[in-house]
Amino acid sequence: MKIIEIEISSALSPSGLPDIDYALNPYLGCYHGCLYCYARLYTRDRYISDNWGEVVAVKKNLLNVLQREVNSIKRGVVGIGTITDPYQPVEAIYKLSRGSIEILATKKFPISIQTKSSLILRDIDLLTKYRDLIDVGITITSIDNSMAFLEPRASPPWARINAIRKLSEAGIKVWIFFGPIVPGINDDINTIREILTIAKETNSILYYDSLHIKPFMMRNKYLIDIVKEVKRYRWNDLFSIIKSLCKEYNVLCRPGFGEKEGDRYSISLDIYKKQH
Ligand code: SF4
Repeated sequence: MKIIEIEISSALSPSGLPDIDYALNPYLGCYHGCLYCYARLYTRDRYISDNWGEVVAVKKNLLNVLQREVNSIKRGVVGIGTITDPYQPVEAIYKLSRGSIEILATKKFPISIQTKSSLILRDIDLLTKYRDLIDVGITITSIDNSMAFLEPRASPPWARINAIRKLSEAGIKVWIFFGPIVPGINDDINTIREILTIAKETNSILYYDSLHIKPFMMRNKYLIDIVKEVKRYRWNDLFSIIKSLCKEYNVLCRPGFGEKEGDRYSISLDIYKKQH
């Protein structure tokens, strides 16, 4: 992986996501390199977008800029990691997500974080301290490693599950994003039941969503057959099953809809109204 350090002039940008006022992305690009990720489509830097998963830019002066901004803008909900994973491996070195949480929470900005990385547990002290302001979404796409070929460098399922359990035990508001659902890979009843069990145990809302087809997927040899399957798949049948299982488990579930940014592309964001 290539790491580039860059300087920025603004840290927070208006969010295109409902119920999130500002987006904060400490990094451009994402080493996790999920094959289906279309955060690349929202990443303006062409070099990073074209080399998704291989190049990550670190916003070196982010914390200084953010510190200045929080003193001059209206308080609002900040989504950390709308087009990148804020806890991808570079965070272990640069600690920009941690630093951002500290600055924002000190100024009482509500914060919503989404990740596929167990590195978030490093910051459990901070997240616990400011738990009244923070919610954390963990993307869980499978229980076994069936999705690993699509998410080559994200934390394995067991580590994500462990992370959500630990965060929940610490009293932090958590939610699960079960997406993308890929026909024949993670759409089986067993996977859905297992994820609902975790949601129940951790008192999480479950957001679920299908894989959304994008043109770049047609050029990927691992995705091309999946794309064909997605197009003929009976999504309504699957969603009916999910809804009925959610009732059985007494878990609040929400379908994803619309398409916005990165992992958050399809979350119906009433979660923020409920949780902040
Ligand atoms: S889907 Fe999320 S974790 Fe995966 S590459 Fe995109 S931003 Fe990173």
